[in-house]
Amino acid sequence: MNSRRDFLQKLGAAAIPLSFLPKLGSANTTAFADERYEGPVLRVAILGLGSYATRVADAMQACTKAKLVGVISGTASKITAWQSKYNIPAKNCYDYSTFDNIKNNPDIDAVYVITPNSLHHDFVLRTAKAGKHAICEKPMAVNAKEGQAMVEACKKANVKLLVGYRMHFEPKTLEIVRMRKAGELGQIMFFQGLCGFKIGDPTQWRLNRQLAGGGAMMDIGIYAINGSRYMVGEEPIWVTAQETKTDTVKFKEGVDETIQFQLGFPSGAVATCLSTYNMNNLDRFFLNGQQGWAEMQPSTGYGPIKGRTNKGELTHPHVTHQTVQMDEMAGIILEGKQPIVPVDGEEGVKDLKIIDGIYMAVKSGKKVDLKL
Ligand code: NAD
Repeated sequence: MNSRRDFLQKLGAAAIPLSFLPKLGSANTTAFADERYEGPVLRVAILGLGSYATRVADAMQACTKAKLVGVISGTASKITAWQSKYNIPAKNCYDYSTFDNIKNNPDIDAVYVITPNSLHHDFVLRTAKAGKHAICEKPMAVNAKEGQAMVEACKKANVKLLVGYRMHFEPKTLEIVRMRKAGELGQIMFFQGLCGFKIGDPTQWRLNRQLAGGGAMMDIGIYAINGSRYMVGEEPIWVTAQETKTDTVKFKEGVDETIQFQLGFPSGAVATCLSTYNMNNLDRFFLNGQQGWAEMQPSTGYGPIKGRTNKGELTHPHVTHQTVQMDEMAGIILEGKQPIVPVDGEEGVKDLKIIDGIYMAVKSGKKVDLKL
């Protein structure tokens, strides 16, 4: 018998409390957890095998409740490489023309769409039509109308639709959310979200309006939008926004370089945010209440996230965001678990309604009312 299992059985026989167990597995807590876990596992196929998909696939190797079992790609050589790297059987591999046959594959439960933004809509619709649960990267779509259509298609097909909001499972983020909900920060008055980086290669899809649906706002500004909602704990009712463009060659018509925007909330709280593709070192959240404050920097990168509040440093250990996200999403899909901060399609549509409002406010120069 496997010595670890043998050891566990002896522990069980000796009735040592379970709370003691994790400390023992410090060298390989994943294998340790795997052997104890006997519940349902979400079998996932990833669609679009680019850089973020690779990060997700690597992180999933440490998951307990989710398992990478299939791939969908337009590039045959990538399929072969992923098959050998992640041990994926040929029967679970598809290209974009054979993808719809996934409906006949009982060994795949969910498809995780990780393509350029404007392709999310069609691929999620096809996923729903195939009767598979859909996980979709942010931004869920390029406008709220498309996002809403995705929500309805998944509802009609009776499958779940989740958006890859990995920060919704990040421990320091959740601690601030807990403090705010418990009233420890007092009445929330102000949020600031600064999100950006200096983008390189001018030929990449992120700077192509057809594929990206916009510019920095779709890609990185969405973290400030989404963050303002889970940090303040309300839905905004108005937005104002101003755009600055220093390079009209790199950032063509419809591709935003830098946008500042302000959100107003029903309680009177306000948020002021910056989204940019033209500044580095911009990854900061600040939340201010009548009795306390919280700040995070970095606030939404892959981590480690750093944060402190008026009570001191947040010391929660770093976790690989995508590992926790996929395990938690498996719990949501298979066991009906309710996340502390929602990650469903409706949540994605709310962010897209705000993005639609921001672009309208930039164009008109006027305050835009939001109805989320
Ligand atoms: P990427 O360019 O590295 O990968 C995109 C993949 O889509 C490639 O494998 C490409 O071959 C494929 N693809 C399919 N059809 C395509 C087409 N018509 N044109 C171009 N590529 C096509 O991009 P990425 O950084 O992996 O981003 C993919 C998605 O993941 C985006 O929606 C992005 O916003 C999201 N993302 C999320 C996070 C996060 O932290 N949640 C981080 C990075 C990216």
